Amino acid sequence: MAHPDFYAVLGVPKNATDEEIKKAYRKLARKYHPDLNPGNAESEAKFKEITAAHDVLSDSEKRRNYDQFGDPSGLQPGVHPGSSGQSQSFDFGNMFGEFFSGGERHRPGPVKGESLSHTVRIPFKDAFSGTKVTLNLHRTETCKTCHGSGESSGPKSTCSTCGGRGHFEQGSGFFKSRQACPDCGGAGKKAPACPACEGRGRNPKHETVTVGIPAGVEDGMKLRVGGKGEAGRRGGGPGDFFLEVEVDADPRFERRGPNLYLRLPISFSEAALGAKVEIPTPESTTTIKVPPGTQSGAKLRLKGRGMPIPKSDQRGDLFAEIHVVTPHIADERSKELLRELGELNDGAIRLKSWSS
Ligand SMILES: [Zn+2]
Ligand SMILES: [Zn+2]
Repeated sequence: MAHPDFYAVLGVPKNATDEEIKKAYRKLARKYHPDLNPGNAESEAKFKEITAAHDVLSDSEKRRNYDQFGDPSGLQPGVHPGSSGQSQSFDFGNMFGEFFSGGERHRPGPVKGESLSHTVRIPFKDAFSGTKVTLNLHRTETCKTCHGSGESSGPKSTCSTCGGRGHFEQGSGFFKSRQACPDCGGAGKKAPACPACEGRGRNPKHETVTVGIPAGVEDGMKLRVGGKGEAGRRGGGPGDFFLEVEVDADPRFERRGPNLYLRLPISFSEAALGAKVEIPTPESTTTIKVPPGTQSGAKLRLKGRGMPIPKSDQRGDLFAEIHVVTPHIADERSKELLRELGELNDGAIRLKSWSS
């Protein structure tokens, strides 16, 4: 399943700022919010679509993954992140819930489980080639005895948390709202706790999960494994597991996205006469041709010799940045040669720089 073009959904350019994305979403949400278009399935579908787009584009991590892999998770193509529709996107939904839909929204419905996260550190060479990590997850899963309700099948009695009222009142005056009792879900009565989970609705689970880390992974990238977070509640699905990858730097290279920059010192005579120089690449070494008359600061580009670009067969480039090293001359013979060279060649270099 391909993702829709989230930028087109919100009507913003690919380089839109966070502020522009938020603005566009707000404007569209105001137009299509289900509370303002009751019973209009088309509006509702549209609202879900723009909310899903905003979910991704307002989260820098998801947006980066989406831009790079075409998928917000950065890992599993075709799996939507989080729940679509009325999810956690800023306070807009809550605001409308408060003012337009009375207490209806406050009845506790299914809640998706919390996310879990973990960090792994991998060497640079593994980031180059891609790798797999196996982790022992301590998570929870929905109780199989009570299917997550936390209740046993025994007879119901008055809920002690709310004293049988089923709700609590919050605030005052115009802003007064009813909050359903979290223990009995508004019913005012509840059955004894399920013995298998002691009323929690979920039980601890130890699970081994293997996560594939794509070649070219960047430091700080988060990979999502859907459904491996905590168990949901009241019929909500499980949360997700996020693996943050830290990549060790390679002292030889400076990395900028898929491109690598190598500092390449060359001698004065190599710079003047040209040379073939062996340089490191992320996987081995290669020979680079320094043209005659190369200056300090020149960047020689080796196309496709940088880091892999995840989920493609492309690689970034490797740039060798030239640093001409001035020799420290101690012996008379060298001094003599350089003086002679100077007389022949040094002529008008400054004059040339400053002439207008
Ligand atoms: Zn249970
Ligand atoms: Zn209660």
